Amino acid sequence: VHSVEKLYKIATIPGDGIGVDITEAAIQLLEKVAEVDGTFKFQWENFDWSSKNYKERGYYMPPDGLEQLQKHDAIYFGAVGWPDVPDHISLWGLILPIRKYNNQYVNVRPTRILEGTKSPLTQCANKPEDLDWVIIRENSEGEYAGQGGTTHENSPHTIATELAIFTRVGIERIMRFAFETARSRPRKKLTMVTKSNAQRHGMVLWDKVFHEVAKEYEDVEWDKMLVDAMTVRMVNNPQSMDTIVATNLHADILSDLAAALSGSIGIAPSSNLDPTRRYPSMFEPIHGSAPDIAGKGIANPVGAFWSAAEMVRWIGKGELDHVADGLMTAIENVTAAGIKTKDLAGSANTKEVTEAVCKEVEKVL
Ligand code: ATP
Ligand code: MG
Repeated sequence: VHSVEKLYKIATIPGDGIGVDITEAAIQLLEKVAEVDGTFKFQWENFDWSSKNYKERGYYMPPDGLEQLQKHDAIYFGAVGWPDVPDHISLWGLILPIRKYNNQYVNVRPTRILEGTKSPLTQCANKPEDLDWVIIRENSEGEYAGQGGTTHENSPHTIATELAIFTRVGIERIMRFAFETARSRPRKKLTMVTKSNAQRHGMVLWDKVFHEVAKEYEDVEWDKMLVDAMTVRMVNNPQSMDTIVATNLHADILSDLAAALSGSIGIAPSSNLDPTRRYPSMFEPIHGSAPDIAGKGIANPVGAFWSAAEMVRWIGKGELDHVADGLMTAIENVTAAGIKTKDLAGSANTKEVTEAVCKEVEKVL
């Protein structure tokens, strides 16, 4: 009897630096997962939209780039940015338009201490449940709306404005997603972050809409923090939080901190989701292109693998959760066995970690 194999079309954008190394590793792992599972396959299409090609072509994405991506079930992204291109050009040339035009208004960033790894926080180094968060980042507006302008450029009187845009629609949908996430987790706890003492328009609207939406989720325990105090709480009392919702900028910063507190920025994943599923969602580790270790074959692929697991969960629409969970078990069996890269105080390289996880997949799945 032949079972019908499901085919998932994935667009890959390795980008720059270690984005290339870890995307290659993630594809190798996902191919192994599909082979071992046997009920589905991946069809890959690679897009060479890098900073190097930008310098030759004058653009990151071709004019029909977004259309090309929309033919896929999901997008797998490595990292973009290189020292010889200003970061705002690479960001606005590639990743921000992909998020925006594919309605990826949620960015989910889970953080926890994986088996066999250690938090730099002494108060939670040995108990994984002491640091287990998921940051829900508003991914479509706020401080990264791109509105603003510059006058009197190149004069001593230059004025630049950078407008943060907050809409009721945008806030309400991210709050609802955050409450749903909190509700789906054992602790049912949500912390909402603002800077509404100093920013008296957009952040006050966040507060207001938050309270409205909270009424629909009486089973979720919640609290509110100002972002500055939040950084202190993350360090001093990591046990006290579970799901966290914050603006585009605040959550960007908090999730780098969260990743570092969980052991390394190299393990942290992210999912850029269009919850309506009208457009493809995008999965990427949160780290950047890391020019200092690019091309050396030593990048930690764990953040890329975790992102790959979340991609499998998403495209499977509930039918591949066991595969995603198995993949996470395989990753943690490897870190638990001490097969780790240098950023996690190990001595393995990217290839060794990748091969070890592939081997575990054969046992676990
Ligand atoms: P971006 O602007 O894209 O966020 P960034 O300049 O903030 O990038 P990253 O590239 O994310 O910086 O990483 C900062 C440093 O952390 C790197 O230079 C590297 O030393 C380390 N690092 C990041 N990712 C990894 C990884 N996967 N494995 C090992 N080390 C990493
Ligand atoms: Mg960064």
